[in-house]
Amino acid sequence: MNCIEGKYCTGCGACAAICPCNAIIMNSDELGFKYPHINKDKCAECDVCQKICPAINSKPFMQVDDFSATTYAAWSKDKKLQKNSSSGGIFGEMAEYILKDNGIVFGAAFNSGMELQHIAVKSLEELPRILGSKYLQSDINDSYLSVKQYLSENKKVLFSGTACQVAGLYAFLGSRNNPNFFTVDILCHGVPSPEIFRQHLLYIENKYFNGEKAKEYFFRNKTLGWKNYCTLAKSSNYKYRKLFYEDYFMHGFLKNYYLRESCYHCQYAKKQRIADITLGDFWGYEQHDYKKFNHDRGASLIIVSSMQGKLIFDAIKEHIWSQEVSIEDCVKYNPILTSPSNIPVERDKILTAFSQAGWVNAIKFFKLPPRTVAVKALCCGGRFIYSFFSEILPWLKCRLTGKH
Ligand SMILES: Cc1cc2nc3c(=O)[nH]c(=O)nc-3n(C[C@H](O)[C@H](O)[C@H](O)COP(=O)(O)OP(=O)(O)OC[C@H]3O[C@@H](n4cnc5c(N)ncnc54)[C@H](O)[C@@H]3O)c2cc1C
Repeated sequence: MNCIEGKYCTGCGACAAICPCNAIIMNSDELGFKYPHINKDKCAECDVCQKICPAINSKPFMQVDDFSATTYAAWSKDKKLQKNSSSGGIFGEMAEYILKDNGIVFGAAFNSGMELQHIAVKSLEELPRILGSKYLQSDINDSYLSVKQYLSENKKVLFSGTACQVAGLYAFLGSRNNPNFFTVDILCHGVPSPEIFRQHLLYIENKYFNGEKAKEYFFRNKTLGWKNYCTLAKSSNYKYRKLFYEDYFMHGFLKNYYLRESCYHCQYAKKQRIADITLGDFWGYEQHDYKKFNHDRGASLIIVSSMQGKLIFDAIKEHIWSQEVSIEDCVKYNPILTSPSNIPVERDKILTAFSQAGWVNAIKFFKLPPRTVAVKALCCGGRFIYSFFSEILPWLKCRLTGKH
């Protein structure tokens, strides 16, 4: 059999999971992205992999009943959860609901070697591992097989991932219709290279940690707020914290320099979503009068696209603040809802420099913007000034005026 052309393969891994002969393994390329590799000696040429490949056959699972989707701006009322999540903490609320019902939640977590993998979480104690965005492609592992197994045991399952991973799961299962099965796709403008991230981590360890290994890494730390989010890495004795546009890896990610090739051709970059629920950032919330309730802790965009999605949204409704908004309001700040990310002109130059002499060579071509005066002030006063303006002052105002 032949695979789909490399630039369209999302690396979802459905082919490897379904192969009855175990003839397909997922191998990493030089950027750390996984692609299927077929062992011709084992392959029975049944073509089941081609028949289910979502990059070849996208249609069947994109169509969700005749449900008309609804869109919300929202955030969790649990301030701790809201702050520990990348956007408004809605994923955490959904996960808690499933876990309290003895269900299983799948999401992306770092392993002890700081590689990103999908894992199954069965308890509230483990949940923090899969909270927060990790901006690199997660290895799906044996998650599809585990989802199938748990569903056959009549367990409730919530699977979260990128739209291409959700598509891979539906393709592998052959159906999305199971009352115990819920899916979340995170709005994704592309997954960056795991190998570039690995080298970025080495760069931080050598330059800032005196060679110590990083133990924790947060792409969206909110110490200085949701809008001025920081990259935060920790080893046993050191801390690295940079505003998102001052961190080389985030800078290149947001400029789309090293996304997976298929992301520039993403078939899921549209308003019609594949999962029951889609979650993203609701960046436009400042244009609305409810911004005064948020205090820069993070706002989520929620798209409810099916009856299963409505079920889970209704179940968490009491725990969140939400307001219905138009999809057009979301598109303004999330262009990925209408078309895939563009290939930047610098991509070739940066990837060539990377393949010739690694990350330290590639970042010579990055032009990081200077700090604004406001941000300098924020960083000098740090946490206290930030809390004073974003939390203490609005709280005092509410107490004095009696308005919320
Ligand atoms: C690579 C990537 C690109 C993104 N691009 C955009 C964008 O352009 N616009 C936008 O509005 N939002 C984007 N997001 C989504 C956003 O960052 C938040 O993840 C989302 O809003 C959910 O936030 P939350 O507060 O509800 O929950 P959080 O707790 O912050 O989200 C955690 C969820 O994200 C999943 N997750 C984290 N990292 C990955 C990963 N690498 N692969 C698969 N699943 C992962 C976890 O499993 C969990 O389900 C992107 C996320 C990722 C990972």
